Amino acid sequence: MTEPTTLPFIDLQAQRARIAPAIDQAIAGVLAHGQFIMGPEIGALEAALAAFCGARHVVSCASGTDALALGLMALGMQPGDVVLTPSFTFAATAEVVVWLGGRVVFVDVQPDSFNLDPAHLPHALDAARRAGLRPVGVIAVDLFGQPADYDAIEAFCAEAGLWLIADAAQSFGADYRKRPVGSIGTLAATSFFPAKPLGCYGDGGAIFTASDALDQRLRSLRIHGQGVDKYDNVLVGMNGRLDTLQAAILLAKLQVFPWEIEQRDRIAARYGEALREVAKVPSVAPDRSSVWAQYTLQLQPGQREPLRAALAEAGIPTAVYYPKPLHRQLAYQGQILPTGGLPVTEALAERVVSLPMYPDLVPDQQDRIIDAVVRALQ
Ligand SMILES: *Cc1c(COP(=O)(O)O)cnc(C)c1O
Repeated sequence: MTEPTTLPFIDLQAQRARIAPAIDQAIAGVLAHGQFIMGPEIGALEAALAAFCGARHVVSCASGTDALALGLMALGMQPGDVVLTPSFTFAATAEVVVWLGGRVVFVDVQPDSFNLDPAHLPHALDAARRAGLRPVGVIAVDLFGQPADYDAIEAFCAEAGLWLIADAAQSFGADYRKRPVGSIGTLAATSFFPAKPLGCYGDGGAIFTASDALDQRLRSLRIHGQGVDKYDNVLVGMNGRLDTLQAAILLAKLQVFPWEIEQRDRIAARYGEALREVAKVPSVAPDRSSVWAQYTLQLQPGQREPLRAALAEAGIPTAVYYPKPLHRQLAYQGQILPTGGLPVTEALAERVVSLPMYPDLVPDQQDRIIDAVVRALQ
């Protein structure tokens, strides 16, 4: 018997093969003009992203993490200020707050969407006030590609006088009640890390806002707080620029992105039909769409490790996002938990597993994955 070939978890090479001429042309164009920093593709990408999602302003930057950090800096977050964020997310969401001297109060998530639970926000606000700290904002995360429940979150923020950052690192291309991601929040931040739904060939990110004042501050902050010219500094900023090469690659990839979103949706629907009998499959609320950054099952306690072992044996990679929520991480022990803790977050961390998901996943490959999952869980 021959060993089964191992499938990729995300097949970026299949995508590259599909669009190779456009990518090669994009790169060759930048090599020819040689403007590697803030070349013409930067403005072209920002305009194309704005048109794609209906945002008034788009500021490209060096990563999703920088997008969040620049956002906090533009909003004027001060050391000691408190920001409410989920714990069930990638470290960058909370990291930027602590990095800038702020404190985080962790908020629990909803069991079906994996996203911040608006009903839990008042508890987090209480925890901040009991600690004698000033709450300034909320960073909501659109986990695994599905937008959070923004109407409820926006109402809470308006009532409490907080700003709202949408961490849309996993959800660019999705929408919520007909509002595209990028047009929601005081500002939104996304990532173009290669494995994200819209990824470049290195690090990259972008910030979206409807505010002219925030847009101006963001453009200054990403280039060392520059004023009217390069050697005029009006703010303490950073080097947070996107490379021109990455902008050129993203312009090429944006052309095929709508088709890729359709493929992701089709693949997710196929997984859902085939697996709903053996595991809790992810659900997308009828008033929104997902770009399926991850396809994440919820298992019964004790099922995960045997399933992962059986799939690995069959050449099928899996991943766990996230095995250890941020409030359990050593680096975030100094942050604040609401009374009652985060029971949903704790349960999800024990039960989630993600399957291969990418637009070039062909039916034969997906059948192999489905058969192996069904066999292992039945
Ligand atoms: C990937 C990611 C980030 C950070 O993006 P980078 O481009 O890797 O810096 C932030 N938040 C979430 C939820 C992410 O998934």
